[in-house]
Amino acid sequence: MKKIVGVHLDLKYQMPNKRYLTEWVQRLPGLGINTLLLEYEDKFPYRAYPFLRDPEGFTETELHNFLSAARAAGLHIIPLVQTCSHLEFALAHAELANLREAPDIPTQICPRNPQAVAFVETLIREVLAFHQTDSMFHLGGDEACHLGACPTCKTWLQERGRIQSWVEHEGHFARMLLQAGKTPLLWDDVFWKEPNTLATVALPKETVLVAWDYALTPQKAAARRREQPDVEILERVDIYTRLGYRAIGAPCCNWGVLVPQHSHTLGNTQVMAEKIRAADQAGLINTTWACFHVPLPVGLLQVAATGRLCPGKTITPAWEEEFWQKEFGVAVPGISEALESLGELWEIPVGLDRPLTMVPYGYMDMVLHYGSQAERWKAGAYPLDFQTIDVDGLYRRKLAILREKADVAGVISRARELAERYRRALEVLAPLEHATHRHDEARLWLALARFKLLAVRVLLHHLTGAEPGNLDEPITGLRAALVPFLEPRSVEKLMRLWAQPLRASLHP
Ligand SMILES: [Zn+2]
Repeated sequence: MKKIVGVHLDLKYQMPNKRYLTEWVQRLPGLGINTLLLEYEDKFPYRAYPFLRDPEGFTETELHNFLSAARAAGLHIIPLVQTCSHLEFALAHAELANLREAPDIPTQICPRNPQAVAFVETLIREVLAFHQTDSMFHLGGDEACHLGACPTCKTWLQERGRIQSWVEHEGHFARMLLQAGKTPLLWDDVFWKEPNTLATVALPKETVLVAWDYALTPQKAAARRREQPDVEILERVDIYTRLGYRAIGAPCCNWGVLVPQHSHTLGNTQVMAEKIRAADQAGLINTTWACFHVPLPVGLLQVAATGRLCPGKTITPAWEEEFWQKEFGVAVPGISEALESLGELWEIPVGLDRPLTMVPYGYMDMVLHYGSQAERWKAGAYPLDFQTIDVDGLYRRKLAILREKADVAGVISRARELAERYRRALEVLAPLEHATHRHDEARLWLALARFKLLAVRVLLHHLTGAEPGNLDEPITGLRAALVPFLEPRSVEKLMRLWAQPLRASLHP
């Protein structure tokens, strides 16, 4: 069977511009990608629950057209419907609040509530109707950390244990899909600590386990080998293989804030691709998560790298320069290092459960909105409605926390260093002003780099009094650059999250 070389598209929070999205999927096969994992969230035209449809989501006609274009380009499509956790797009609505595992947990359904199970079955059936010709279906199931929070489930969970309870719940949907002639996929994190338990539970053998790890890089793998030379990296993939299950590796190719962390995401993809090849397993799907706010074109190099690394080719800075030259028609020497700078995910430890980032807002900073990491886990990465985030107040609070709890001199020195690196990256990107094609994508790169530089300058202004420079040009430039790639409300959502607090902090 042909190996899966896939990318994941997460439609949570913001909706890509639909015209661009079609262009994007049509480009994937040319970059070596044969599969699209499509996580609809609230962008699917649900009939039974029309209130779940985001106004910018697909209409039925748009979705038919989009899927036809993707299939015509040669892509296999795997739809994804969450079946246990990460269901806040639905459960945050008052109409469905009775299906929650606990009243204050809008992310997870109660698996022992027949109405909740029927609700998920309806979602699956509706999505299946658009995917009759596709052979696989992803049931999600990751990070079901609130299993057993309700009194009914507590006893049920204590009797069976966490893994068995999860398998009973997910096994039901897996069998439903098998009856419909589809292969079910599930995220594998429930088995991380005890992968051998898979031998003792009744998960249908046709289920494909999607083994995810977004932190592992060649450096971390080497360190782990030094500490535990007898333990195979990603040993669980071998255990699944030995127990007769198929597995798909899932790294993450957009980990970061606005721009992917460059060498981290490439290294993560490389390690996972090597493991899947060594185990002769089903393939790899590189995940992209909406919470990182990386616009689709900004992750194209990582997508192209996935297409190379899966069949065992290498990637080098020279290949990256070649890729950019082909994209934009101009030479961009030094691009690899510039992308490393722009993608740096600067985390400042401040004694909260999560580090803060220096820009407003990385998803980690949402700990400030929710008050604690535990509450953030219950509610989801962001609230369903971005409008409920007091972005200006949070940015002020963040500055106060940095002044109070961080090593301020250290933060200032790193911010200055980062500003200098962003400035150098902008010099490297300068040839994009003369791009001969993909002008919109070239403009987006320049706008993101200018905006990141602005964000660090505003931070420096608040910490040192240094002049932040003109805000208007980088902010209006970013908005204009996002327009071709996101639907209009999604542009405004992001601008509110990213730009508004910077302005407000300077003009209180
Ligand atoms: Zn329950």
